[in-house]
Amino acid sequence: MTQQDIERIKQLLESPKQIVIVPHKNPDGDAMGSTLGLYHYLKKLNHQVTLIAPNDYPDFLKWIPGDSTVLKHDSQTKESDNLIQKADIIFTLDFNALHRAGNMEPVLAQSRAIKIMIDHHQAPEDFATYVFSDVAMSSTCEMVYHFIDMLEDTKNIDADIATCLYVGIMTDTGSFRFSCTSSHTHRIAANLIEKGANNSQIHNNVYDTNTYEKIQLLGCALSNLKIIPEYRTAYITLTQKELTKYNYKKGDTEGVVNYGLSLNNIVMAAIFIEDKQEGIIKISLRSKGDFSVNEFSRAHFEGGGHTNAAGGKSLLSLKDTVEKFISILPTYYKALNNE
Ligand code: 5GP
Ligand code: MN
Repeated sequence: MTQQDIERIKQLLESPKQIVIVPHKNPDGDAMGSTLGLYHYLKKLNHQVTLIAPNDYPDFLKWIPGDSTVLKHDSQTKESDNLIQKADIIFTLDFNALHRAGNMEPVLAQSRAIKIMIDHHQAPEDFATYVFSDVAMSSTCEMVYHFIDMLEDTKNIDADIATCLYVGIMTDTGSFRFSCTSSHTHRIAANLIEKGANNSQIHNNVYDTNTYEKIQLLGCALSNLKIIPEYRTAYITLTQKELTKYNYKKGDTEGVVNYGLSLNNIVMAAIFIEDKQEGIIKISLRSKGDFSVNEFSRAHFEGGGHTNAAGGKSLLSLKDTVEKFISILPTYYKALNNE
């Protein structure tokens, strides 16, 4: 994003506009934190703002300030489409390929609104008028802070905005432990705490509100964990039957893949989750060091993300997906063992 872009956006935001903000499908903490943070900020500038999520998100994010105002496109399609068609500006946050907005893709593609992308994933597509893309950033929330800073307006960050942005920085950095966490990330987190984000409460709201069944499902996942030492790889499977047994709810498997990566000597970890409703196997991949699960997922599982955290999917059965995964590993023998 150039200085000229910033000046143009500043001008654009000087008079009240109809604005829609969109996170990716199956929004996570960073997607909801960044969109809600931007929502509160733009409301303060007297714009008409609506946040439209492609679909629902986990309960552990449903306390974030502004949550009750969020529209869900899959259940509120007409109202959402109308707002998108009328919008002057559409912000797309925490994704960089329109298909990541799920069923919102066509209506977003057709819209003639000025589009502003803020995102930290690799290989951005060229669909937005203004693109703020930085793969070195820990999170889109960190980028929204920078965005407001580029508008020279951090004085307008209040406790609600700070709380929203803190959520995504915390979740996307794994509570400040992943390698995407920089000294700048910590400085911004410190600023957000000074502006009213209650760091301990936020952590508690997101991570210490587990249900008993969710922990039981974790136990099931961990007992399904397999290791392939020669490829320094660990993987977990969860069948639809297992998910149903433990009354699976959206978000219940978030973070489970990291247990594989926590093992001594493991460089890549995967989780394969059967989703009978969507007819896919949802895949999450994590890695350590230079091994790029973004490239691995793009090459084999129709996905992408970051170097050390990516997602993807497979249309094969769970068994065949795992077999495919294992059969690919020899190609990566060197890359996995050179870490
Ligand atoms: P997760 O495994 O937690 O679902 O996702 C890890 C990272 O990869 C996140 O940054 C997420 O946005 C991204 N991601 C997840 N699934 C996909 C996908 O199907 N395609 C792409 N391009 N990115 C994905
Ligand atoms: Mn993110």
